[in-house]
Amino acid sequence: MLEKIKKQFWMIDALLKTDFTTKKQLVTNFLTAKKKYIPKEKRDANIDSLLKCALCPNMCRFDCPVSMAEKSESSSPAGKMKIAYFLETGKIQPSESAIDLMYKDVNCDACKQWCPFGFSIGELLIGVRNDLVKKGLVPERLVQFKEKLEENHTIYEGGIKSLCLDKNKKSKVLYIAGCTTLNGRREVADSTVTILERAGIDYTTLSEEWCCGAPLYVLGFRDSFQKFVNHNLNAIKETECETIIFSCPECLYTFKELYPQSRLKVEMQHTSQFFLKLIEEGKLGPMELDEEYVFHDPCILSRKLEIAEEPREVLKNISKLKLKETYFNKKDTKCCGSGGMLGVTDQKLSSEIAKDRVLELKECSNSIVSACPACEKAFKEADDKIKVLDISEVILKGIKNA
Ligand code: SF4
Ligand code: SF4
Repeated sequence: MLEKIKKQFWMIDALLKTDFTTKKQLVTNFLTAKKKYIPKEKRDANIDSLLKCALCPNMCRFDCPVSMAEKSESSSPAGKMKIAYFLETGKIQPSESAIDLMYKDVNCDACKQWCPFGFSIGELLIGVRNDLVKKGLVPERLVQFKEKLEENHTIYEGGIKSLCLDKNKKSKVLYIAGCTTLNGRREVADSTVTILERAGIDYTTLSEEWCCGAPLYVLGFRDSFQKFVNHNLNAIKETECETIIFSCPECLYTFKELYPQSRLKVEMQHTSQFFLKLIEEGKLGPMELDEEYVFHDPCILSRKLEIAEEPREVLKNISKLKLKETYFNKKDTKCCGSGGMLGVTDQKLSSEIAKDRVLELKECSNSIVSACPACEKAFKEADDKIKVLDISEVILKGIKNA
C-alpha cells in the first residue's frame, strides 16, 4: 500500500500546485467524464485501465524491452494501450498493423515496476486478445498455431510429450518438465531426474505431458485453454501427488495462478526451490565447481512468482563457484524475448530482445546460468558462442566434480 502511495505521490504533488478552479475541473473530469468514454457493452478488455494508462510520466517505456527494441512510441506500453482503446471502441479500423501491435509483447511485467496504477500491460493485452478472438480478428497464423497445439498437445509440432521413463505411477512427488524442456532443453530434464534419483526421491512423471496451456491463455484462446486445464487436472489427480515440481517458470505460474486451485490441492514448486530443500536436508552431498557464471533471472520467476533468492542460494552451496550479478537483476531483470509468445507472434523482434539481453549478461561473464528452459533456449539461439546452462545442469556438474 505504502509503495502504491509513493508511486502516486507525483500526482498529489502536481494537484496541490494548481489553482482551485483547475483542481476542481481535474478531479471532476477524472471521476465523472471518463464514463462517457467507456462503452456499455461487456468486454474482456479492461477499458477503464486502457484509458488510465499514460496518466503518468510514462517512464515505463524505457524499461519495456519491446519499445526499446522497436524504438517506437506505438510499441511502448502506453502506445499499445491507446491503440487497444481505439480498436476496442471501433474508433479505428482493425488494420493488420494495429492488430499485430496487440501481440507485440513479452508479458514481462517490467512496466508494472514503474506503474502508479500497478498495471501489467501484458495482462491487459490478454483481455484485448480475448475480444479479438470473439470478433474473429485474430491473425490467421495464430489461429493455425492454436489448431496445431490442440492437435499435438505440445507447442512443438511432432514434438515429444514424455520423458519415456515408464514412470506413470502413483507417487507423492510429480515432476512436470514442460514442452520447451522436453523439446528444446532435454538436458535440463535429464539433469533434474538424475538429481532426484541421487537424492533418493521417489517421484513420478506423466506418461503423456500436455502443454500447460499458457500459450493459449496468453493469446486469448480461453475456451481452448480450458480443455488443457481439464485434461491436466485429471492426469495429475491420477498420480495422487502432494507436490509438483516444475523446471519451467511459465508452467509453474500457469498451474499456480491460472488453474482453479480448488481442484488442485497440491504444493507447487520450481525446481530451484525443491533443490534448495534437498541441499538443506543434506540429500545432495558436497558440490564443487571452479567456474564463473552470471545469473539471469527469468521474468516470470523473479517478478510474477517472486522467486529470486532460491536459485542464488542453491548456487552459493556449490563451493568455488563464482556467481556474478548483472545490473538488471532480480525484480529489475530484462526479458529473454520469448515471453508472451513473442517467439510465435514476432520471431524477429523476439530474437532482437534476446540479443540485447545476452549483450548485457556478457558484460559480466561469457557463461550464463538460469532457471528457465525458454530463456536458455532463446539465449543459445541468439548467440551460439555463449555458454548457457540451467541451474540443474550446474548442480549436476558440481556433484560429479566433488
Ligand atoms: S509487460 Fe513487458 S513487454 Fe509488455 S508492455 Fe510491459 S514492459 Fe513492455
Ligand atoms: S503502464 Fe502504467 S506507468 Fe506505463 S504508461 Fe501505462 S499508466 Fe503509465
